[in-house]
Amino acid sequence: MKRRNIMKRRNIMKRYQLFIDGKSQDAVSGKVFAVTNPATGEVIAEVSEGDKEDVDIAVQAARRAYEDGPWSRMTTTERGKLLRKVADIIRQQEEELACLDTLDCGKPITDTRTVDVPGAADFFEYWAGMPDKINGHTIPISQDFFNYTRREPWGVVGQITAWNFPLLNAAIKVAPALACGNATILKPAEQTPLSAIRLGQICRQAGIPDGAMNVVPGYGPTAGEALVRHRDVDKISFTGSSAVGKRIMAVASEMVKPVTLELGGKSPNIVFADADFEAAIYGSLWGIFLNQGQVCCASSRLFVHESIYDNFVAQLIDKARRIKVGDPMQEDTKIGAVVSEEQLERIKSYVDAGKQEGATLALGGGCPSDECLRKGNFFSPTAFVDVHNRMKIAQEEIFGPVLSIIPFTDEDDVVRQANDVAYGLAAAVWTRDLRRAHTVAAKLKAGTVWINVTNQFSWAAPFGGYKESGFGREMGGWATVESYTHVKDVWVNLASEPNKWAD
Ligand code: NAD
Repeated sequence: MKRRNIMKRRNIMKRYQLFIDGKSQDAVSGKVFAVTNPATGEVIAEVSEGDKEDVDIAVQAARRAYEDGPWSRMTTTERGKLLRKVADIIRQQEEELACLDTLDCGKPITDTRTVDVPGAADFFEYWAGMPDKINGHTIPISQDFFNYTRREPWGVVGQITAWNFPLLNAAIKVAPALACGNATILKPAEQTPLSAIRLGQICRQAGIPDGAMNVVPGYGPTAGEALVRHRDVDKISFTGSSAVGKRIMAVASEMVKPVTLELGGKSPNIVFADADFEAAIYGSLWGIFLNQGQVCCASSRLFVHESIYDNFVAQLIDKARRIKVGDPMQEDTKIGAVVSEEQLERIKSYVDAGKQEGATLALGGGCPSDECLRKGNFFSPTAFVDVHNRMKIAQEEIFGPVLSIIPFTDEDDVVRQANDVAYGLAAAVWTRDLRRAHTVAAKLKAGTVWINVTNQFSWAAPFGGYKESGFGREMGGWATVESYTHVKDVWVNLASEPNKWAD
């Protein structure tokens, strides 16, 4: 049954419009852009191309919903029920959404079915429980004053996402923004806008009032930047590259507009000599090759203790060679297609840079076969040895299935090398020594540290960066409430006598 659905959906050719004020609509310019399947190069849909004028219309709709509409008058319990309904509908439409993300992004169908789509539903479910728990405090000051805080929504929030987990990235943004009472305008990545547009429609189906959730697909410098520049957008939450994050921060600073930035990474994965050898090999492979290496916190720098280095690397490469690369619609595919030709070229240029700098290619380095190369954006799992941590391939985010393997001598040496990078999103440590695990975790400059595991996420655990990986947190209940609300402090005078300062 599932297989028949997939075959039908492979041939999807559909028009997707902007979703503003509860309605699907064309862009004011009438322009559209094509969305292709990275595994085949075929155009699978055409999408209305939002620009400044469309952003303005969406912001007006969001402002109305926030200030005057039913969204602003709803009880927190009602808000929670609507978010739960969104989760239910995502689950009902799980197969369609999984196919959409696989066709749009090139990621394996097994991943979209087991990670992306259920994860998006769980996200809404988690946030459905939050609206009536966002409370302020009372602050003891003196008998003469009653002082309390209110947690208030920002108002109209602009949200910009990357393409690597299309539906999940959208859910991670939209669910908490709505739970906190904001109205939102989502600008999904131009490479993968389809499931985000469907999410807008699903929100309406669930009963989220018109204008509270809007989706404006389009390009970054036009639609994205218009959102950041718009004077009536109160807050920006961005997921994407550090380069664009810096640009957004600069533009937003002109209006002193708050931003949350979830940016790139170059995460260290440290294997000590006493680690569970097999678990560390599997964990390292999952850490770098999941989602074709297109994960912000991918464990792209593998540090292995010199005493186990040769054996560890040999076994890791042997296993990596057998990972199935191919048609993302096949259930046994582990590595699908890279999102775009541009991204493929970027990966190739880093492989060239690694060779030029003197690293040795130990695995992959190109397309798995000529046939694959003709059909889509495929790239084999790739690993370099003889890497120095200051090389370009160890310092810059490649965002593809390319691993740099580096030996280390002791704890101090590896902590120094691991932290010697501009990014600080995540890190992993493999050891059986409890003391070492926790002391190294404390010394690593990263927003998330995994001990004896990689790539673990939960809507309940805060996620975000140190250094150029950004600031602010997503996921992890209260950390995210802080991103989507501000604090108002209220003073009430209880004194029986007025302050007669002027006398
Ligand atoms: P990108 O920065 O090129 O684009 C991200 C989004 O920003 C897209 O929607 C794009 O249209 C928009 N954009 C581009 N220029 C803009 C501008 N001037 N103003 C406003 N918006 C603009 O990144 P990408 O290639 O889509 O995604 C890959 C990057 O995202 C990687 O660096 C990855 O590490 C990062 N990422 C981070 C996280 C995280 O949680 N930290 C999660 C996923 C991806």
